[in-house]
Amino acid sequence: MELEHARQAGLYREMRHGRTEGAHITIDGKSMLNLCSNDYLGIGATHIPQGQIQSSSRLLAGNDESYMKLEDTLAAHKSHESSLVYPTGYMANMGAISAVASKGDLICSDELNHASIIDACRITGATISIYKHNDMDELNSKIRCDAKNKFIVCEGIFSMDGDYSNLAQISETARKEGAITILDDAHGDFAVGNDGRGTPAELGSSVDLYVSSLSKGLGSFGGYIASQKNIIDLCVNCSRQFIYTSALPRQLVEHAAERLDSDRSGHQATLRKNIGLLSKGLEQLGYSTGSTHIMPIHVGDEKTAVKYGQFLFERGVFAQPVRYPTVPLGEARLRISVTAWLSSKDIDFALGVFEAARTRFSA
Ligand code: PMP
Repeated sequence: MELEHARQAGLYREMRHGRTEGAHITIDGKSMLNLCSNDYLGIGATHIPQGQIQSSSRLLAGNDESYMKLEDTLAAHKSHESSLVYPTGYMANMGAISAVASKGDLICSDELNHASIIDACRITGATISIYKHNDMDELNSKIRCDAKNKFIVCEGIFSMDGDYSNLAQISETARKEGAITILDDAHGDFAVGNDGRGTPAELGSSVDLYVSSLSKGLGSFGGYIASQKNIIDLCVNCSRQFIYTSALPRQLVEHAAERLDSDRSGHQATLRKNIGLLSKGLEQLGYSTGSTHIMPIHVGDEKTAVKYGQFLFERGVFAQPVRYPTVPLGEARLRISVTAWLSSKDIDFALGVFEAARTRFSA
């Protein structure tokens, strides 16, 4: 992508330095309500242990003993036999999908899947068949073909639209067609389902290979997969994003394990309450936002989305415009994420700003 073209099309991306604290973020000395955070549960500060970082990959000297507890707890949390931590969720998708699928296989992938799933599918060498978002008829017709192994991959809660996948129907199709299901539940994990067990628990379903991030609902850092022991073993042996990179520092492994051990139910209940308050308020203003903690405000045009974000910014609400190629061209939006950090007062404040934005941008 040429930078000049990106600037003219309203697609230029710029980094801003900020500091996050609770429900707020301070940018250029200005404190704003943060509606861009994926720290959905808002658990708060957890002590990060001190000490030497391993400075090695896990198959060499980096496999700190703290991994044992974290991976055992994650496997139990997901009701899978085993689990494996990667440095990030991005690498977990890349590493796991490229370990299990290869040339001669078929991967059916939802058109709205995250970039890390898309990139992962591309490096497998398998045939990739994209089906329309959550369109089960199209999935059913695309999966009916000869292939060495068949896979269906989708997100639990879609990161830019905030809707659920049709997991029950996907599992049924997979069962009939002998396909393996892969679910990236980065946005559902810890936030939904009994005890934060994620989208499969919320929808009463199950998957063969579960991929997630520790950097969102849990508010920690890292990525992981959960599956049968032989799949985990395959990833340890074949997953280049696991083998050829340094291990996640043990401080972060312990941080994630501590959060996983903590009682998160109160945070989950606050998150649910906040979703209810914000979605009801936005609906009353004429916005249509869905019912999860990811609430897209669809604007359409990229340049308008940038102006919309700037309008909110100037009034103390931080909600970034999301544009192509993260979402299709002409489908730019403000992606609002709800967290348990927000108080009722914060939500009222945000609704006041969204009311002003509605007046300004629908005129
Ligand atoms: N999958 C999805 C659906 C995501 O939204 C993201 C992060 N935006 C990732 C994977 C990557 O997770 P991480 O930030 O841990 O690399």
